[in-house]
Amino acid sequence: MRRVSILGATGSIGQNTIDLIDRAPPGTFEVVALTGGRNVAQLAEDARRLGAAVAVTAHEEHLEELRAALDGSGVEAAAGQGALIEAAARPADWVMSAIVGAAGLAPGLAALEQGATLALANKESMVCAGPLVMATARRHGATVLPVDSEHSAVFQGLVGEDRAAVERIVITASGGAFRDWPLERLAHATPAEAATHPNWDMGQRITIDSASMFNKALEVIEARELFGVEPARIEVLVHPESIVHALVGFADGALMAHVGPPDMRHAIGYALNWPERRALPVERLDLAALGQLTFRAPDDRRYPALRLAREVMARGGLSGAAFNAAKEIALDGFIAGRIGFLEMAEVVEEVLSRLSSEPGRIDASFDLETVLHIDGSARRVAGQVISERTS
Ligand code: NAD
Ligand code: MG
Repeated sequence: MRRVSILGATGSIGQNTIDLIDRAPPGTFEVVALTGGRNVAQLAEDARRLGAAVAVTAHEEHLEELRAALDGSGVEAAAGQGALIEAAARPADWVMSAIVGAAGLAPGLAALEQGATLALANKESMVCAGPLVMATARRHGATVLPVDSEHSAVFQGLVGEDRAAVERIVITASGGAFRDWPLERLAHATPAEAATHPNWDMGQRITIDSASMFNKALEVIEARELFGVEPARIEVLVHPESIVHALVGFADGALMAHVGPPDMRHAIGYALNWPERRALPVERLDLAALGQLTFRAPDDRRYPALRLAREVMARGGLSGAAFNAAKEIALDGFIAGRIGFLEMAEVVEEVLSRLSSEPGRIDASFDLETVLHIDGSARRVAGQVISERTS
């Protein structure tokens, strides 16, 4: 019996993970902790059905509601940041990190500290503090398994291979909702338009990040941190069909591609069953029916986020934490209608430049406190930049 916990259980990744657990033969998994946010009804329903030991809402004001919803079930109810960390630290074999944003970092670290295998959907923790995450895993003999579809694809492409023979990593991008829009129209794109993805069904924030390519920018940095590959060896390729998820290029010129339907349950299931491969309820591709797959280079003018990711990697240190935090605030600003679609990248760039003008600020050593400090500074500065633009 494998003991599993799901951080961010009520989200898109969390619900897909629960779907796979629901379908597994009885006795395969024992659910330890489920965590969520304001969707207390969903959290309580899943915790009851799966017989979780504890259910946690991130928000203290929802504790009473959660308690009431769990009444008589035997599932413990808890709330708040401390409870989230405590849930992640409960002994488990496998923990899904699927909270969105930098908020996923501390709970993910707590899971690694107890030695659990961490299935990492929360790319933001790698962008903010990749070296800290990987060092924590090493120190506690824990494993990090990528769940982002591109990174799972790369991970699978590397099984049994000599890492020294890896020449390049290519991650694909659908191009998001606006890939075929004329550039002039982008300035007026609305949050509703950006939140519709052509191929993947995901949470709202990551879908908008796909349209701006901030998602791919985070993923390039995530790949660097997960696989220890130099930035110059990581490429992005626009592939509108989202069928090839990533390719690994080797010294002999071979390119190994991971091909599959755009369904997150593949990457989640691969991590859930790792190191075994088991049957998964995903569509079997009919390539003849698909007929063709297309690829093109990303256009830098359309996707300034990709350029910013390169700058962040060149700068190193804690600039990833500043980048991610500024991006989260810029995204909030866009969703709230305070700034335009193209202004998100401008805000992030401005934050990076203001923070780096204070020497040493984004190049300090990696510990959780320093990362959270930079995260907080970048959020404040991003808030100022947005206020200046809107006043
Ligand atoms: P989502 O918005 O659907 O769900 C997020 C989950 O995190 C919810 O359970 C929510 O309650 C919880 N949460 C939100 N803010 C929180 C906070 N401050 N503290 C504690 N919990 C909080 O997001 P998602 O699309 O499932 O994405 C989750 C993570 O997985 C993100 O890092 C995303 O980049 C990554 N990811 C998602 C997909 C996808 O297909 N959805 C694919 C690859 C990677
Ligand atoms: Mg991805």
